[in-house]
Amino acid sequence: MNFILCARLLDRLKFMHKRSRFNNKRFILVAALFLGLLLNLPSLSSAYNRADRRSFQRSIVDVRPRLNPRFKKVKRKKTQYIIVHTSELGLNTTLRVVLKGKRLRSGRTTPGGHAHYVIARNGRTYRILDKEFEADHAGLSMWNGETDISRISIGIELVGYHYAPISESQYRSLGKLIDILQGVYGLDDRAVLTHSQVAYGKRNPWFRKNHRGRKRCAKNFIRAKAELGPTWPYDPDVRSGRILPDPQLAEVYYGGREYYAKAEDANVISKLNTAWSIAGEDYDSRTTVYEFPGGQIYTGDQISDSVGWNRIPAKTVVLLNQENSVFLKKSDGPIKTISDSLTAWSFAGQAYNQKTTIYFLPSGRVKFGSMISDWDDLPAETRLIVGYSGPYTLNKDRSAYRIAGSKYKDRKTVYYLPSKELMAGDRIEDFDRLPAGTQIFLPYT
Ligand SMILES: [Zn+2]
Repeated sequence: MNFILCARLLDRLKFMHKRSRFNNKRFILVAALFLGLLLNLPSLSSAYNRADRRSFQRSIVDVRPRLNPRFKKVKRKKTQYIIVHTSELGLNTTLRVVLKGKRLRSGRTTPGGHAHYVIARNGRTYRILDKEFEADHAGLSMWNGETDISRISIGIELVGYHYAPISESQYRSLGKLIDILQGVYGLDDRAVLTHSQVAYGKRNPWFRKNHRGRKRCAKNFIRAKAELGPTWPYDPDVRSGRILPDPQLAEVYYGGREYYAKAEDANVISKLNTAWSIAGEDYDSRTTVYEFPGGQIYTGDQISDSVGWNRIPAKTVVLLNQENSVFLKKSDGPIKTISDSLTAWSFAGQAYNQKTTIYFLPSGRVKFGSMISDWDDLPAETRLIVGYSGPYTLNKDRSAYRIAGSKYKDRKTVYYLPSKELMAGDRIEDFDRLPAGTQIFLPYT
């Protein structure tokens, strides 16, 4: 927009120049003045008009009354930054955590107030806490020499994972929200940072002193999609020697290229992607789950004794924030169940919207991934199977054996009974008693 304006003004000036007795020097001087003025007016470059901002503001869902009454509201003295997070959870659990609180490693629970805003996958935005108060969202943090960033910033939580794409609807809402907040607090684009940029950790086995990398939050955030210019060209606290860099994050933010999270392998262990680079400080937490390629499941607090940190096999999948859900993850063989902390993305990853991922909703409806608009649209208790073809319907002329061949008794062959029961082949006792209309799903090869 600025450019079009500039170009027009320049044309104007050229025109004036031709017709008047301006000499060249004077022309250049005047043009430079105009340009300088324009480029220095950030308000002119706002991507949103007033109507946009207003209708967005009206659409915000106010959930402040649900904030934990134990949360103590403290007015923020200054506002220097806007911090973007990814929640690593689905919407319902995200809202519960930021409103009501979370359990810390010590067993203590926090009183909530962990964000000012939450933006759901469909772009719907929730107000958690008045923006004038301090939210407890950034934890141990530092930027440009200032610590405790929660006290000088606004926190926005995006529902999603740091290793999966942020939705286009989220970018649209986030862009407008940031634009409004920038106007209120007079902040430029460089004041918008991610949690992984500002969080830091104390020394640990990987780092001999304080360092970045404690959090991976929102490292997949593509600024341009929220109409933001580039971030800082360097990390000011690393440059000044206050803390050590985290190599992976340094590459993401200051490596001089636009970063896109690799959807396939970003929460999968490989040589380059270690437990540390996926989970940050939560690598050894009880709520971090490691699912080995052989199917064994460990929590972060078990790895050191049972496996050893340098013996986690490649292709192990790492899931964060898995409070009490390890057993759900373990059970059921190929049939998975969506719960508070295990979403369709936790099980299917980027295959969540493929035809070969099949969902069995609590209502009894069956949906193929290709019918799903987002992985967070499925209610808890939805069951799913990943990598399947079907259904092949059983009837009196078409037995399980005719459909599945010798694999009919296999634990990977899945039966959906008219009674809405979902069973693996190895759990069925009498195949002759399977009712007509039973649907069979076979592993897709
Ligand atoms: Zn965060």
